[in-house]
Amino acid sequence: MGAVLPAVAEELLREVKRTYEDTSQVSDELLLGLKFIFGPTALQALDLVDQRSVTQVTSPSGRTTFQVTGSSGKLYTCYSSCHYCSCPAFSFSVLRKNENMLCKHILAVYLSQAMGGFQELIVSDKQMSDILLAKED
Ligand SMILES: [Zn+2]
Repeated sequence: MGAVLPAVAEELLREVKRTYEDTSQVSDELLLGLKFIFGPTALQALDLVDQRSVTQVTSPSGRTTFQVTGSSGKLYTCYSSCHYCSCPAFSFSVLRKNENMLCKHILAVYLSQAMGGFQELIVSDKQMSDILLAKED
């Protein structure tokens, strides 16, 4: 996990991971914490994890990225290593207006890493560059 999140958010995600490893669930206390730190985004992100919307994409050269199917069915590419998502909400409310620290897709990636709830897809290096170079319409 990068150094882009406030320490308190990173600590919370680590706690989610620890708790989930021990109990296979996220306690009410942690849910409250997530809601407190991330606002309504937290529940939307947990829904995405529940629906198995997060896919880790890996290529033979070792590159890894994540794709998240949004609620509208559109596929977004998330780079957890550099804390970036290709969705409009990320460009608008995170980068431009600085209202949120992340969008639900990136939070879903972090949560699915903590809870082990992502699908895995292996693609060729060519497919990976297509994903990484994909332009949003
Ligand atoms: Zn997003």
